Amino acid sequence: MKATQKPYLSIVVPVYNEEDNVKPLYEKIRTACEEVGKSFEVLFVDDGSHDNTFEVLSELRDLEPNLAVIRFQKNAGQTSAMAAGFEYAQGEIIISMDGDLQNDPADIPKLLEKLDDGYDLVCGWRRERHDKFWSRRVPSVIANWIIAIVTGVAIHDNGCSLKAYRSEMIKRVPLYGEMHRFIPAMSTVVGARISEIVVTHHPRQFGTSKYGLGRVWKVFLDILAFKLLLSIFSQSKNHNSIDTSQESIAKQNIKYNIYRISAFLSLPFLVSGFIFYNISNIIGISLLSIFASLLGIGIITGTTVSKAHREAADFSTLARFFIIQCSRRPIRYFGPFCSLIVLIGSIVFLLSPDIAPFIISLGFLGFCIGLFGEVISYANAKKVNDYKVEIFLNTRNEVFNIENIIQ
Ligand code: UDP
Ligand code: MG
Repeated sequence: MKATQKPYLSIVVPVYNEEDNVKPLYEKIRTACEEVGKSFEVLFVDDGSHDNTFEVLSELRDLEPNLAVIRFQKNAGQTSAMAAGFEYAQGEIIISMDGDLQNDPADIPKLLEKLDDGYDLVCGWRRERHDKFWSRRVPSVIANWIIAIVTGVAIHDNGCSLKAYRSEMIKRVPLYGEMHRFIPAMSTVVGARISEIVVTHHPRQFGTSKYGLGRVWKVFLDILAFKLLLSIFSQSKNHNSIDTSQESIAKQNIKYNIYRISAFLSLPFLVSGFIFYNISNIIGISLLSIFASLLGIGIITGTTVSKAHREAADFSTLARFFIIQCSRRPIRYFGPFCSLIVLIGSIVFLLSPDIAPFIISLGFLGFCIGLFGEVISYANAKKVNDYKVEIFLNTRNEVFNIENIIQ
């Protein structure tokens, strides 16, 4: 590839502590791209690894003219690593995939073929997925089902990183926080035509997974935040900006205030819910549920959305506002913790129906407090955790350090 020529294809691979995977993966990608027969670049984004990932990659890059390495100053997360890759990619077509050899580069030609049928985004679907059943596959099926209902984009496998994009489309999609799981839905906002194909998935051979069960809670909240994001966005007449005129805000504020008032009105339900415990558990639980729902709707929709509506004038700012995870607050841990209590309560229910409703309700209440904490932190997320590139070893054999890179 000549120095001035842009490649046709850019492969973006986020990696965090994948020292044993990067070399064999690069070789597989090279073989697949050579089969396609178009010019290509492979962008590895080292997301602040503390093993030898970066050393292995920089040695490899000295030998391979098509390899580029972006290194972050510290771990910023898979979404940020993908966003950096998309930003620096020069190809007309971009492909993203995991760096742990679970996705198979041999699927690249198939993805490109499908893209050529007239799509802007082709998603991989790991129909035969080789991950743990209870902690991975089950939550994933449920999450994909909810995402399909909430966003209206019925893709089987939002979480599969192996995807092909038209560059001009994906470069317009803002990616923050852990939004890489919502790329298909986000892409619809910029008018993308989306399709999917079945891809191969392998079990992880080297290194360990970077996510645990905690992701379930996060994805659930991201879906909520995402729904709000889309709802504000669909109110705007043209799909590039949000109407922030006085009249529009005044009109929307009426709606937001109704939500807020409903939150206050929910408090008597809470109090009476507890009083009714002694009389009837069923009534108590129902009242508590009404409390929780009203509080949830009121706080989330009223406060967060109206604030976002006032402050964010475009899709990108809005996405940033919502999705960036601000510094963790202790109250947020209530959510997952209390979900567990609800679960235990439900089990106790089978053994001893008398005390179980109380446990379940306490758990449920804690769950709401956790949700509240999470939403407040979304609403306060003003400081953005943008990634910081430490070094960029590009395909033209130049080395950029942080001063050379415009953030
Ligand atoms: N990853 C990353 N930054 C992170 C976590 C993960 O760049 O903070 C990368 C990781 O190295 C891998 C990909 O994202 O290439 C997917 O991660 P993982 O395989 O752990 O997820 P799983 O397959 O278990 O869902
Ligand atoms: Mg993996």
